Amino acid sequence: MTSTHILGFPRIGAQRELKFAQEAFWRGEADEAYLRGVAATLRACHWQLQRQAGVAFVAVGDFAYYDQMLGMSALLGALPRRFGFDPSKLALGEYYELARGNAAQPAMEMTKWFDTNYHYLVPELAPDTTFDGGVDWFFDEVDEALALGLNVKPVLIGPVTYLRLAKSYAAGFDRLALLPKLVERYARILDALKARGVQWVQLDEPVLCLELEREWLDALTAAYEALGACGVNVLLATYFETSAEHAARVAALPIRGVHIDLARAPAQLAAWCEALPETMVLSAGVVDGRNVWRADLRAIVRSLQPVSAALGERLWIAPSCSLQHVPVSLSGERKLDGELKSWLAFATEKLEEIGTIALALDDPRAAEPALAEADAALASRRTSGAVVNALVQKRVAAVTDAMASRKRPFEQRSRLQREALKLPVLPTTTIGSFPQTPAIRHARAAYKRGELKALDYLERMRAEIELAIRRQEALDLDVLVHGEAERNDMVEYFGEQLWGYAFTENGWVQSYGSRCVKPPIIYGDVYRPEPMTVETAKYAQSLTRRPVKGMLTGPVTMLQWSFVRDDQPRAATALQLALAVRDEVVDLEKAGIRIVQIDEPAFREGLPLRESDWPAYLEWAARAFRISSAAVSDETQIHTHMCYSEFNDILPAIAAMDADVITIETSRSAMELLDGFGAFAYPNEIGPGVYDIHSPRVPSVDAIERLLERACEVIPLERLWVNPDCGLKTRDWPETEAALSNMVRAAKRLRSRV
Ligand code: GLN
Ligand code: ZN
Repeated sequence: MTSTHILGFPRIGAQRELKFAQEAFWRGEADEAYLRGVAATLRACHWQLQRQAGVAFVAVGDFAYYDQMLGMSALLGALPRRFGFDPSKLALGEYYELARGNAAQPAMEMTKWFDTNYHYLVPELAPDTTFDGGVDWFFDEVDEALALGLNVKPVLIGPVTYLRLAKSYAAGFDRLALLPKLVERYARILDALKARGVQWVQLDEPVLCLELEREWLDALTAAYEALGACGVNVLLATYFETSAEHAARVAALPIRGVHIDLARAPAQLAAWCEALPETMVLSAGVVDGRNVWRADLRAIVRSLQPVSAALGERLWIAPSCSLQHVPVSLSGERKLDGELKSWLAFATEKLEEIGTIALALDDPRAAEPALAEADAALASRRTSGAVVNALVQKRVAAVTDAMASRKRPFEQRSRLQREALKLPVLPTTTIGSFPQTPAIRHARAAYKRGELKALDYLERMRAEIELAIRRQEALDLDVLVHGEAERNDMVEYFGEQLWGYAFTENGWVQSYGSRCVKPPIIYGDVYRPEPMTVETAKYAQSLTRRPVKGMLTGPVTMLQWSFVRDDQPRAATALQLALAVRDEVVDLEKAGIRIVQIDEPAFREGLPLRESDWPAYLEWAARAFRISSAAVSDETQIHTHMCYSEFNDILPAIAAMDADVITIETSRSAMELLDGFGAFAYPNEIGPGVYDIHSPRVPSVDAIERLLERACEVIPLERLWVNPDCGLKTRDWPETEAALSNMVRAAKRLRSRV
């Protein structure tokens, strides 16, 4: 029999149960027991789904109270010293302080998990970091699953990936020096699992899909030589790219299996089949864990038949990576168009797909009805009129290079803009959103349920916009925003208004902590039938004499944060999106909006994992941004915003986007980002975020002033803006006003000194 398994299941819950329990706990409305109870129920439910689908093992350890890397740090006892927590007695409340910061300490740094929109908390390592202590939550979960009589396969982040993604917090310290101690600790964890009768452990080493240096590869060998000897079968999991170049090295390790991503990198199958020793299982990640399309089951089965013949029971079938990157189930979707729905598979449906593939390999006749059904769905998608739009095809064919550049170079534009906008030096602004208060969310929910009429909803949103404008004026900010009250999500809001996009009711995917996003699905050619934000922007501008920024989401982010078509290149979809945004920018300008911000927080996230693939991506991505922004007159100022990432290695591409102003997240990494912008001599204006909006801490005037002084050392004063590092929608008004008031005061102090 061919075995199936998954690398991990979404932890947040089909109805975001975990999110609501976390947030109730944070607000002090629910106690720890309640939160732990919700978590246990979710785990049991997800294991049950796996069992029903007939998997050989259920994944345990894929759960996390906030993040799987933080969970790993908690298990290892490797907590940042600066919090002063006892690693073996970490309370859940303290765990959340690590993730979210507290009155004394900023949160641990957060960054994107490979090329996904999931964010993990970066382990902070120092020469004196130890890996003893640590909490037993992981073992409790294993015991919980064992008590249910399940065949348990614990899932952990592997030591090399853990170390590689960690950051060294001491100058000149090479974190690889910690490897022996770390591996020793992992060995003890495996021992403890073995003592519980566990047979297989999955250790995730996605870093093997990066371009790894020699010393890291040696670290891999050293680590797994030790761990392979522990007497538990180790399944080494790689995903998000090919790991074929390491096949020979992995084959020589004393481990018992390897998982590879055949959705992203199907060509690696041959190399792995060749290298695999008879002692090892090959887990074939054939069902795409990163996208929502129904798999071409027949094609997958065909490609696996020879492998199955050669490996027999040593072939396992799995999704390409953890299913945490897709929504939980299609069964929550009652409004989705029936035809489109038949083209999709979420996590629960993917469980069925792996089952069908295994069945088809073992007993082709029994699997035939399920295969035929998948064939029919695929055929309907290929021939559907909903996918191709002749109008869009014609426009795309007519795109010229001239459409991708502004009329004058930046220096000339900036002079024109200065005259037109008359802003002070160090102009102050925000990134776009203001607190999404319960009142706003309730109004939207009532509107969606049909309990609030469209006109009444509009009135409510207008009242929120007016409030935001008045508060910004009172704070004396220079460039205002309307506050994005009407937006549930920066991509969904636009997707709902574009053709070629579909949106789900419950298609939630965890982004970080309790934050979930509901990525729309791009299934067809993208077209903007009518203006999307013009009325809102016009209304906001009518309330004030200060400039109000128009606020849009850029083509690369629209692409990156949606589930995209897998039937055309990403670049082709990006160009269609760029044309839609371009039309909106032109309409905003016509409506009297003088500054338009086109957010591209996901620009960096789109980078391929392998650097050799970067140039091609950066070329089409920067061009898509320019196509979206370059149709306006030179007096109109284009802003962009990016967050959560490092930019220093892609500065030429960011410069090539040619936005007049870029605002970036810098505060969490203490402005070190900015040094790169300075060294590269980034030519346009820049607003380094002066405080961290992810934390409830209100920054002091002094702290902001110091950061600004540092910024002045690397960026000429006349090109510097003052702003928080991201939108404020997750905060509440009192802390927002306090923080912005300090920010404006810091800007004024500095202005008076220069
Ligand atoms: N304009 C958006 C906001 O302020 C930007 C969000 C983001 O960068 N993720 O919410
Ligand atoms: Zn941001």
